[in-house]
Amino acid sequence: MEHRRTCYAGDYTGLQIQRTLLHRAQELQVPIVDTIYITRLLVSDGRIFGAYGFDIVDGVPVVIHADAVILAAGGHTRIWRHTSSRRDENTGDSFRLAALAGARIRDAELVQFHPSGLLEPSEAAGTLVSEAARGEGGQLRNAQGERFMERYDPERMELSTRDRVALASYTEIAEGRGTEKGGVYLDVSHLPREQILSKLPRVYRTLIDLQMLDITKQPIEVAPTAHYSMGGVWVSPETHSSGVDGLYAIGEAASGLHGANRLGGNSLIELLVYGRITGGDAADYVLGLVELRRDPAAVAEARAEMQQLLTGSGEESPRLLQRSLRNLMTDHAGVVRSEEGLREGLAKLDQLEGRVANLTAHPDIAGFDDLAHAFDLYGSVLAARATLECALERRETRGCHNRSDYPQQREELRGNMVWSPGAGVVFEPVAEAPEELRALAQQQIDDSPVGKLAE
Ligand SMILES: Cc1cc2nc3c(=O)[nH]c(=O)nc-3n(C[C@H](O)[C@H](O)[C@H](O)COP(=O)(O)OP(=O)(O)OC[C@H]3O[C@@H](n4cnc5c(N)ncnc54)[C@H](O)[C@@H]3O)c2cc1C
Repeated sequence: MEHRRTCYAGDYTGLQIQRTLLHRAQELQVPIVDTIYITRLLVSDGRIFGAYGFDIVDGVPVVIHADAVILAAGGHTRIWRHTSSRRDENTGDSFRLAALAGARIRDAELVQFHPSGLLEPSEAAGTLVSEAARGEGGQLRNAQGERFMERYDPERMELSTRDRVALASYTEIAEGRGTEKGGVYLDVSHLPREQILSKLPRVYRTLIDLQMLDITKQPIEVAPTAHYSMGGVWVSPETHSSGVDGLYAIGEAASGLHGANRLGGNSLIELLVYGRITGGDAADYVLGLVELRRDPAAVAEARAEMQQLLTGSGEESPRLLQRSLRNLMTDHAGVVRSEEGLREGLAKLDQLEGRVANLTAHPDIAGFDDLAHAFDLYGSVLAARATLECALERRETRGCHNRSDYPQQREELRGNMVWSPGAGVVFEPVAEAPEELRALAQQQIDDSPVGKLAE
C-alpha cells in the first residue's frame, strides 16, 4: 500500500482490542462463558438453534440455546507442525462445527506462511519473530553465510513480501543450504543494542525466555511457520450468512475477504469491521423469526458423540495422533505443494482417519483437557482433508499457494475451491461484480480520505 492503512498500539494491538471489547461487553452486561468447549452446533431442519459442549473444568455437558450463532473459533494453522498460533487453538474447530451443521468450506488450501517462526523449543515451534526484525534491518543468511534474498528479490531484499521471503527461506532449506536443524538465520546483531531494545523489545524478551539467546549478540534460527487461514467457512458477501439459516462466521473462521493472501494488519481491522456488520445481520435475522424450532435428536446425537469418546475402549491417544497429523501436513502441504506430495498426504490421511476412529479421551483430576484434545483432533482431521483436497484441485500457483508442478497463476482457476464432506471440492469461478456494486465501490474510494490522498 502507498498509504497508511493500519492502526496499532505498539506491538500490542490485539491485546488492546481485546481489552476494549471486554470492557464494553461488561458494560453492556453481555454474559461471557469462557470454560465451555463447543463440540457441535445444533441444527433443526436446516436452521441453527444453539450449540452443545462441555465444561473443560468438570466435564459437565452444556446445551446453549441460540437463534443465531456467529462462529468465531479461529482458523486451522495448528494442523501444521510449525505454527505461530497459540497452543491448542486454530485446530480447525470452525471447519468441523460449520461443516457438520451443513455449511461449506471455501479455499482451505489458502494458508499464509510467515517467514520467521522459531525452531526451538519444540513445544513452541513456530512462535513468531516479528517482521519488525527485518523491518529494522535484520538480515537473512543461509548456513553458508550467504544473504540469500539477493537471489530472490535483489531490490527489496529482506523487505520483500511475506510470501516471497517465506518461499525463499523454504527453497534454501529444501535445497540443502539450511541449518542442521532445518532453518535459516535471521540476524539483527549488527544493529545498535539500543535500537534492538527499543524497537524489538518483545523479540528480545521472547528469545531470552524461550532459548536463553541474546539477539544483540547472536543470530536467530527461523523457518517458515503457518500463520493465517485465508480459507474458512463460506459466507455470503451480502448477508454474511453461511447459507445455513442462523449460522454466521467471522475472522479466521470465515473466508473470502483476503483472497489468496492477506496483508499484514488486515486481520484485526477485519474483525472489528465485520464483527459489527455480521452482528447486525444476525440480530436482524433473529428479529425476523416468527417461530422457534428445537430438535431433541440433534442434542442426543451430540451427547452420544461425547459419551462415546469418554467411555470407549479405543487405545489411540489424541495428543499422539495430533503430532502425526501435523507432521503429515508439514511434509505434504507446506509452503510448496505438488500433485505427488498431496496424493501421498491423502493416502496417509486415510490411514490416520482409521486410527482416529479408535480414539478414547482420558480426563483426569486436572480437568477435561484430553476430551478437548480429542475434539480438536476431529476438527484437525476434517480441516486437513479439506486442505489437501482443495490444494490438489488448485493446479496453479496463486498468492500463498505454491505448486512446484504448476508454477504459474491460471486465469481459468480464478475462483474458489468450495469443499464439503459429502461432495468434496467444487470449483466456483469468481463472478464479475454487478455494475451498480462496482460503481458504488468506486464512489466510496473516490470519497474516502485515501482516495483523496491518491489524487
Ligand atoms: C503472533 C501473531 C501476531 C499477529 N499479529 C497481527 C497484527 O499485528 N495485525 C493483524 O491484523 N493480525 C495479526 N495476527 C492475526 C490475528 O491476530 C488473527 O487473525 C486474529 O486474532 C483471529 O481472530 P479470530 O477472532 O478470528 O480468532 P482467534 O483469535 O483465534 O479466536 C478464536 C477463539 O475461539 C476459541 N475456540 C476455538 N474452538 C473452540 C471451541 N470448540 N469451543 C469454544 N471455543 C473455541 C479459541 O479458544 C479462541 O479464543 C497475528 C497473529 C499471530 C498468531
